[in-house]
Amino acid sequence: MPKPTKHLHSATRAIHGGEENYGHNTPVAPPIVRSSTFTFANSGELKRYAEGKSKAYMYTRYGNPTLAVAEAKLAALEGGEAALVFASGMAAISTSLLTVLKAGDELIATRNLYGGSYRLMRDVFPGLGIRTHHVEADLTGAEKFVNERTRALYVETPTNPTLEIVDLRRAAALAKRFKLVSLVDSTFGSPVLQRPLEFGFDLVLHSATKYLGGHSDLIAGAAIGSREMIGRVRELAMRLGGTMDPSAAYLLNRGLKTLELRVRRQSETALKIARFLSKHPRVESVHYPGLPTHPGHRLAKSQMDGFGGMLAFDVKGGLAAARRVCDRTQIFQLAVSLGGVESLVMLPQYSSHYGMSAKELAAVGVTPGTIRLSTGLEDAADLIADLKQALA
Ligand code: PLP
Repeated sequence: MPKPTKHLHSATRAIHGGEENYGHNTPVAPPIVRSSTFTFANSGELKRYAEGKSKAYMYTRYGNPTLAVAEAKLAALEGGEAALVFASGMAAISTSLLTVLKAGDELIATRNLYGGSYRLMRDVFPGLGIRTHHVEADLTGAEKFVNERTRALYVETPTNPTLEIVDLRRAAALAKRFKLVSLVDSTFGSPVLQRPLEFGFDLVLHSATKYLGGHSDLIAGAAIGSREMIGRVRELAMRLGGTMDPSAAYLLNRGLKTLELRVRRQSETALKIARFLSKHPRVESVHYPGLPTHPGHRLAKSQMDGFGGMLAFDVKGGLAAARRVCDRTQIFQLAVSLGGVESLVMLPQYSSHYGMSAKELAAVGVTPGTIRLSTGLEDAADLIADLKQALA
């Protein structure tokens, strides 16, 4: 089995990463180690573990061999030294942020975020004494929020749901200039399309529920970064307890093996759909960074290896028209989440952005007619035909 070193391409690393230690004559598919606890040969081994001198497994909340395979694959894919998997994307995001923020600290974050991350900052952090300042995706004016209490810069790119692109080089440089920890939610891109650590980010976060798992059958999260940073995140994860279950890790390992293939095909299909929608008379505008008309097109081209499987569009006629489209699609299923092999359609107003004020929605570019699509692996012509009949 090849050792996943840097010269191997990401598709190879996704398949073989983390599996070197299984040796010869062992299962080709890494097994699920279901055990919650692990034996020690003798009390001397236990003492060595307690003193931090042993890499043995002790208890699955602290680490587990099936989780370790996923962590090695993710570290290899993102070009990081280490990774940590979680029970959900929100566990990865909240644990990572709380690793670098404490009461009295301040955070600068882009405004256009996954609704759950935005709500964490709006509804939970103030009670913990953590203040968030939101900036636009182009980071204009971010410097003016920096003071002696500012500890971190948090961005998401491409953004959910309107696919804005944050300049990864600029964000990492800004964080370095002010000695802030830089974190990025890279869920929409996946490591196939963008690897923010290469631009100088400290922590890359994922909802592994999405592209990394890829089959809409698990809830999972991941953080990737330096050994030192992931070590700190792991310390807190052990206390907060958002550890991934070994069965989820098994599914994640299986999903990661086809990540490259899936994301490339989903990106190709999404571009075809975006081109179709941009010419449709009932469509007001299309948000897809692969279209030259998208404001982030050039930036996306400069920092991504493709434009991804997510897109959004605004239909003429507002919410009633958008609901009609969602009620009429036959292949696109009306469901939240994204990144799976099945194409999904969703109204952000009734999901991630539910309950937000008109001002909050306008600030992130969500209109009453906004519809979000997650492109699956069905035939592109079938998907376009489905949208055509739904829009008719
Ligand atoms: N980040 C993004 C961009 C998401 O779309 C989501 C979920 O939709 C999350 C984070 C949260 O992930 P999870 O649902 O796995 O907790």
